[in-house]
Amino acid sequence: MNQPTDNHWPLTEALESRESIRLAKSYGLFVNGQFIRSSGSKKYWTINPANEKRLSRITESTPKDVDRAVRAARNCYEKHWSRMKPSERGKYIYRIARLIQEQSRELAILETLDGGKPIRESRDIDIPLAAAHFFYYAGWADKLKYAFPNRNPRPLGVAAQVIPWNFPLLMAAWKIAPALACGNTVVLKPAETTSLTALKLAEIIQQADLPAGAVNIITGHGPVGQSLIQHPDVDKIAFTGSTHVGKSIQTALATSGKRSTLELGGKAANIIFADAPIDQAVEGVVNGIYFNQGHVCCAGSRLFVEESVYDQVIEKIKDRIDTLRVGEPLDKNTDIGAINSKKQLAIIDQYIELGTAEGAHLYQPDCPLPDSGFWCLPTMFTDVSQSNRISREEIFGPVLAVQTFRTVAEVIKKANNTRYGLSAGVWTNKGSKIFNMTSQLKAGVIWANTYNQFDPASPFGGYKESGFGREGGLHGLAAYLALK
Ligand code: NAD
Repeated sequence: MNQPTDNHWPLTEALESRESIRLAKSYGLFVNGQFIRSSGSKKYWTINPANEKRLSRITESTPKDVDRAVRAARNCYEKHWSRMKPSERGKYIYRIARLIQEQSRELAILETLDGGKPIRESRDIDIPLAAAHFFYYAGWADKLKYAFPNRNPRPLGVAAQVIPWNFPLLMAAWKIAPALACGNTVVLKPAETTSLTALKLAEIIQQADLPAGAVNIITGHGPVGQSLIQHPDVDKIAFTGSTHVGKSIQTALATSGKRSTLELGGKAANIIFADAPIDQAVEGVVNGIYFNQGHVCCAGSRLFVEESVYDQVIEKIKDRIDTLRVGEPLDKNTDIGAINSKKQLAIIDQYIELGTAEGAHLYQPDCPLPDSGFWCLPTMFTDVSQSNRISREEIFGPVLAVQTFRTVAEVIKKANNTRYGLSAGVWTNKGSKIFNMTSQLKAGVIWANTYNQFDPASPFGGYKESGFGREGGLHGLAAYLALK
């Protein structure tokens, strides 16, 4: 447990119990409604990043396994799922949503153990939002003609879906729920470091009694994702992950004629005007960058502060950072959990070194860190310039880069001066300024006087190197339909 410092109240440890979870020693693949063995023999350990202890063995799928999963999805698509009455499809999806709610405690604990995020977040954000996505899209299953009037919405076929490790169950829900609602079948590959909740979701899908092959879940590293996405018999590709991998996927698909959506990286600007409610804005900034260890594609990693309130804002952020508790993710007092992997921690640490070498001023709190596991202190860089790599490149960790501005025109120019375009935040008490900013900022999602708010009815997606296509809302349905 963390030792208290002057800034930390000595709270008693409040560990979530692990007793309610059932963790298999080893997991197979979920194909055609069954857990099966791989055609190969390779397995690897998924570990708890908070203590580096082994949790379970996960299967590395072979190309033959991928093919088997795609064939199961094709068969189910043609014989059952696409032919089923839409209201029936909706019932199955509602069932999944309810089962997620019923098993939410187990899912939250698994998410925290496997991914490193604080239990408060997996319990209060990831799992409820995942259930909400299934509820939301279940409701649309029999109303597609109303969603797209005067069109003839038809499913696309088999969807190949590859997701990252930052919101494992939630990303699976974002992908599976709309695909099923529209009459498509699915082969999904979770990230290699966070497969446990996807495998638990496979059990839920079994319990919901979906037709065999409607959803297939295969595990493994990047090459497994690659062979899934490049499989000749998939009709739709949905990828969420890094811009680097997204670009390689886009290149590989260039002449395939397949439908695709890519949800990629980000470098969001959070902008505080002098007329903003400063305390609220500071809380939003802290939430925007330190939530989920900064492992958020839309993390507000660049902060722009109007010069006249700069000193005040920086002092308040420091005060707030000083109170954050970094440590055991299963402890309900924890604000910042473990970095998901050793590899990701090394990347973040490199950027922190780089920021200092680039001449920016580093601030980190005096907070004790556990002895084992992967940890990063909440970090703030001031005196950052537009050309610094820490303000241009996605770090995907709890690292904030602060700059100042004097005019609206200046901050719009600075905020848009990025190759990404996923999200942004604006803090001001002037409605007109909000409208002006939202119409000029080039970002798919812009929050005003709040940050990191998600709702299944609201589309999410980016511009530029943050990808294309939208997930959530009606836009998320359209991505899985042919509209004639
Ligand atoms: P990543 O691109 O390394 O991996 C994502 C997934 O792709 C994993 O399942 C991985 O196994 C698989 N993969 C790796 N190489 C592949 C290949 N060549 N072909 C097919 N699949 C491959 O990304 P990551 O490190 O897991 O996730 C972090 C990234 O995801 C960040 O850049 C973040 O911004 C982005 N992200 C974006 C959104 C969004 O909605 N825009 C949401 C969450 C995360």
